Amino acid sequence: MDSRTNLYGLIGHPIQHSLSPEFQNKLIELFNINAAYLAFNVEKDQFENIKNTIKTLNIKGLNVTVPYKETIIPYLDKIDESANRIGAVNTIEYIDGQLIGYNTDAFGFIRMLKELNVNIDNHKAVVLGAGGAAKAIIYALEKLGIDDIMLCNRTIEKADRLLEKFNFKNKKISSLQDFQIEDDMLIINTTSLGLDENESPVVISKSVKNTILIDIIYNPFETKLIKDAKINGIYAVNGLPMLIYQGIESFKIWHKQIENPFIYYDNLYDNLLRKLVD
Ligand code: NAP
Repeated sequence: MDSRTNLYGLIGHPIQHSLSPEFQNKLIELFNINAAYLAFNVEKDQFENIKNTIKTLNIKGLNVTVPYKETIIPYLDKIDESANRIGAVNTIEYIDGQLIGYNTDAFGFIRMLKELNVNIDNHKAVVLGAGGAAKAIIYALEKLGIDDIMLCNRTIEKADRLLEKFNFKNKKISSLQDFQIEDDMLIINTTSLGLDENESPVVISKSVKNTILIDIIYNPFETKLIKDAKINGIYAVNGLPMLIYQGIESFKIWHKQIENPFIYYDNLYDNLLRKLVD
């Protein structure tokens, strides 16, 4: 590092468990870029200074995480179409004096499905949770051309409001308790239930055909939900690939000259896997 080192980072609160600094700095190292990526724990009562701070310190790019993905929007000069539709920003680029907001979470989810080679044709989507992550997932499902969606959430009004903005042929809202697993479902858990290893948003206690379960939580590496699904023979994966793909896409936004950072996906995945299961 020297006086020309460019600064990138993550803003959120809390952020001490984030894996982003680990893999973003790994990418910086692999491409031999003169940059550093740091995690900034921004207190809520300091957030109003964010725009000036980025500009004053000439921070070239930031990821944004809980609880600031929505509150950051009024501080930005422009947001791209996906961030606008989703209503949340997880990536900021500071370029030509302007702060530009993007959302790479939906991209990360779509790329994960593609790379896992799962066939979602004729599947009914079931999204558990209606928070920030759910918005990006639902936007991705709309882009993927899914017809049927059911949104299950603790707070029904929040689910109602969220689904209103999106176009699906058939929309249904339900509580988490009323969820029943069936054949041909694409179930995505976006609730935070599962961060505690003994908790699960719904009960899975029977075998079904062609159903796919994705829990976007990656720490613990196998949530109770994933374990229950696997016990019943259901294909189930966690959110680590989504995390890495959204992060590589952010990296691509900041370092446009780099041809294909996705070639290092396996390298990043192995590193984070080791960290998570150790
Ligand atoms: P959020 O906006 O706070 O939403 C949390 C969701 O969980 C809401 O639907 C909330 O329901 C539900 N919930 C929380 N506690 C609950 C409880 N005790 N009982 C029932 N429902 C409960 O959080 P978020 O940003 O969407 O993130 C959610 C999870 O996704 C986090 O674990 C995060 O780590 C993960 N995530 C992963 C990735 C990835 O790349 N893999 C990306 C983003 C997020 P209510 O609406 O009723 O409050």
